[in-house]
Amino acid sequence: MSLKFNIRHLEQHNLTLDGELSIAELELESLDELIHFEEPVSYDLELQKLENAVLAQGALRLVLHCECARCLKPFDRTLALDHWASPPSLKREEKVDVSNDLVDSTPFIREHIVLSLPQQPLCEPECKGLQNASKKLASGGLEKKDSTSSTWAELNKLKL
Ligand SMILES: [Zn+2]
Repeated sequence: MSLKFNIRHLEQHNLTLDGELSIAELELESLDELIHFEEPVSYDLELQKLENAVLAQGALRLVLHCECARCLKPFDRTLALDHWASPPSLKREEKVDVSNDLVDSTPFIREHIVLSLPQQPLCEPECKGLQNASKKLASGGLEKKDSTSSTWAELNKLKL
């Protein structure tokens, strides 16, 4: 299911390709603790043969299932990469895997997706972190306990 295309098919005219790439194919499974991928990546690309190269460009779309880095709330975000373009695939370029006239664009798509992922997924840009969540947690008596008790410890020191 990788995104391979035959250079010979491009000799006469440009090619349009659309379809899906699986997460396994793109090796995105365990990339980031806070970002999970469940659905395949869809692509809609146009391939063009230049004099000595192949140019692939078009749109990629995928859904990220994230956990907010500040409040840990789960949320989904669609990543729409409308202007992806492969580096021109020269036949003798080392990086490009051309076998039997097939060019594999998968590694470039992977690279572009990896570079486009949020460094720190946030449920909203202004997320205030665990402030609200800690109130809920306080009644349950879980987590945050340590920081609360150490705050009291600090206060006690001040009183002395
Ligand atoms: Zn958040």
